[in-house]
Amino acid sequence: MKWITLRRIVQFGLLLLFLAPVMGFTLVLGTLISASVLGIVLADPLAGLEILSASKSIYLPLVIAVILMIAFSAILGRVYCGWVCPINTTLELVDKHRPANSKTFSRSIKYKILIIVLLLSLLTSLPVYELINPAGILIRNIFFGFGPEFSIVMGIVAFELFISKRGWCRYFCPQGATYSLIGRFSPVRVRLSDVECKECHNCEQKCPMGIPVSDFLAKGKEISDKECTRCGECIDACKAKALYIGWGRKY
Ligand code: SF4
Ligand code: SF4
Repeated sequence: MKWITLRRIVQFGLLLLFLAPVMGFTLVLGTLISASVLGIVLADPLAGLEILSASKSIYLPLVIAVILMIAFSAILGRVYCGWVCPINTTLELVDKHRPANSKTFSRSIKYKILIIVLLLSLLTSLPVYELINPAGILIRNIFFGFGPEFSIVMGIVAFELFISKRGWCRYFCPQGATYSLIGRFSPVRVRLSDVECKECHNCEQKCPMGIPVSDFLAKGKEISDKECTRCGECIDACKAKALYIGWGRKY
C-alpha cells in the first residue's frame, strides 16, 4: 500500500472518529486540542502550554495529557502535521491546482510566532492562538456550520494557491513549530536502504515541506530535518524503492 493511501485512511478516519460520538460511538471523545482516545486523555502541547501560561497554574490532568502527547511526538516526530491536522489535509487536496512557482520565507518565523503566542497567553490570561487556530476553526465549521471565522481557513488556502506551497505550515504555524521542536530527535525517520539510489531527485521534488531530501540522504542516509512530517511522499516517489521509514539511528 502506498503511504498516501494509508495517510488518507488515517486523516479521514480520524475526522470520522471525532464525529462518531454524535452517533453513539465513543472511541474518541473531544477535540483536536484535547481528546480522550480509548480512555487515554491527550492534549495538544501548544494548547496545553497556552492554557497553563494563561491560567498561571498547574492542572495535573492537563500536564499529564500534554506529556503523553509530547512523548508520542518525541518518538514519531512531526507526525501530527502529516497525518492528523485537517489544515494539512485541506492544503494537500488543493495542491494540484496551484502553479509551480512558490514564494519562500524564513522557517524561523514560526518559532518567533510560537514565543509571541506563549508570551501573549501569559500576559492576557487567554490561550490566544486557540482563538484563531485554523485547525480548530475548520473542524468546528465542518461539524457545526460555517461562520465568519472560516475566512481564516480560506485565507490560508488562498495563500497556498497563489503565494506559497505549504507556506502556512512551513513558515508560520506555531503549532507545527511546536511539533518540529518536540520531534527534533525522533528516531523514526525516512532512511536510505541498501537498494542503490538512482539520484533522480524525485523524492526531493515531491517533498511538500521543501526539505533537501537528497542532501540529507547523501550525508547521513537519513532525513534528520525536524520539519519532516513523515508523510511518506518521498518514499512513494522513489521508483528505485530505496527509501523507507525506520526506527533507530545509524552511524
Ligand atoms: S504546520 Fe500547523 S497547520 Fe500545518 S499541518 Fe502542522 S499544525 Fe497543521
Ligand atoms: S522528507 Fe519525505 S516524509 Fe519528510 S516531509 Fe518530505 S516527503 Fe514527507
